[in-house]
Amino acid sequence: MARIIDGKAISAEIRAELAEEISDFKRERGFAPSLTVIIVGEDPASQVYVRNKEKACVQVGINSTVIRLPEETGETELLSVIDRLNGDKTVNGILVQLPLPKHINEKNVICAINPEKDVDAFSYVNAGRILTGDFDFLPCTPAGVMELLHRSGIAVEGKECVVVGRSNIVGKPMAALLMHENGTVTVCHSKTKDVPFHTRRADILVSAVGKPDFIKPDMIKEGAVVIDVGINRVTDGKLKGDVDFEGCFEKAEAITPVPGGVGPMTITMLLKNTVTAAKKQN
Ligand code: NDP
Repeated sequence: MARIIDGKAISAEIRAELAEEISDFKRERGFAPSLTVIIVGEDPASQVYVRNKEKACVQVGINSTVIRLPEETGETELLSVIDRLNGDKTVNGILVQLPLPKHINEKNVICAINPEKDVDAFSYVNAGRILTGDFDFLPCTPAGVMELLHRSGIAVEGKECVVVGRSNIVGKPMAALLMHENGTVTVCHSKTKDVPFHTRRADILVSAVGKPDFIKPDMIKEGAVVIDVGINRVTDGKLKGDVDFEGCFEKAEAITPVPGGVGPMTITMLLKNTVTAAKKQN
């Protein structure tokens, strides 16, 4: 039976540490770190994510501002808002909530954020820094996975690490971070010929696919560490990960649940990046 890696508890621990760090920051500099989130349009899931980010900022003492723009906002207008925030010394972190409406080019917007304020770390400058190992910020979800491993006493060095999924925001940076910690990394994707062949070799398996119960017990090795990044809403409205939790729980050495595993870490890492940005800028 696996031990459960409790993302909620680890996240609470990190947020308490951040709250202390922020309180010291305020005492020394006379102001709080600040994050500005821009949301364009009315996508309900995005509205919830942005509200959760706001709440988390307040909880640890970060000044949070949300700029809400209408769906029909043009790319030029959005870029000029980012330009203004880039030049505003009172703004430490800038985050544009994705997805953006179809008429706006996401790449242009993400890459317009000053890399020093790009707390999601999605800009191409920060993506390059992550690949070379010369980074200030890490994308929040892969960074959250690494924190879960560190704080659960799981070493990466020398391990066979398999990442399923190769998106720019999860799979690719995840693979880079595991490689930086001296794991031997394999990345699987939709064109991989035999995914189970690879996953069965994994000492550390990270699934970021977006398909419920994609990872079955016969796809993991006895004693593996299984990290489930997937968040899938199933027919009864409940959230499910990519991993068949009940089945894999019996076989793994450690496993993250969904909800309560990687999910809570993502916003926590955003808070951490905002504090890092504020410190670097001041
Ligand atoms: P994407 O849809 O961008 O990427 C999914 C990846 O899975 C792609 O690389 C795709 O391959 C691969 N894939 C799809 N089908 C298969 C298959 N049959 N076999 C092997 N690989 C496959 O998703 P994201 O990376 O953005 O997110 C992945 C999951 O993580 C989602 O459930 C999302 O909701 C969740 N998520 C959770 C977060 C959290 O905070 N916990 C944060 C971000 C995401 P290909 O490249 O070939 O298409």
